[in-house]
Amino acid sequence: MYEVMIKSEFSAAHSLREYEGKCEALHGHNFRVDVYAGAEEVDGTGLTIDFRILKEKTNVILDQLDHKHLNDLPYFTETNPSSENIAAYIFNNLKGEFSNENVVLNRVAVWESENSCATYSEK
Ligand SMILES: [Zn+2]
Repeated sequence: MYEVMIKSEFSAAHSLREYEGKCEALHGHNFRVDVYAGAEEVDGTGLTIDFRILKEKTNVILDQLDHKHLNDLPYFTETNPSSENIAAYIFNNLKGEFSNENVVLNRVAVWESENSCATYSEK
């Protein structure tokens, strides 16, 4: 199995419901997002997937989140916009982009700060 990863980022505000602590109040993050994609075989060029294509697909999803108050987005009106749930949102929206290719989306990691990250995968 081959695996590649691209890094991207977006900036957004959120507040966590039913949580006691600093994250209960409205605040923002520069979220960093790592997207891992894999394939059993590389293509004729020797690639799992072109990094540029993976980044473009990812950024289409991240544009929906960038500079938003996440709690206001339909998906997060009931679902808390935690890093875990943001990772699942990105994963589930990005997954369909790979349906006609040999490439599978393995995992999405969302970094809320330099030292704190949550990941989501289906395995
Ligand atoms: Zn936060």
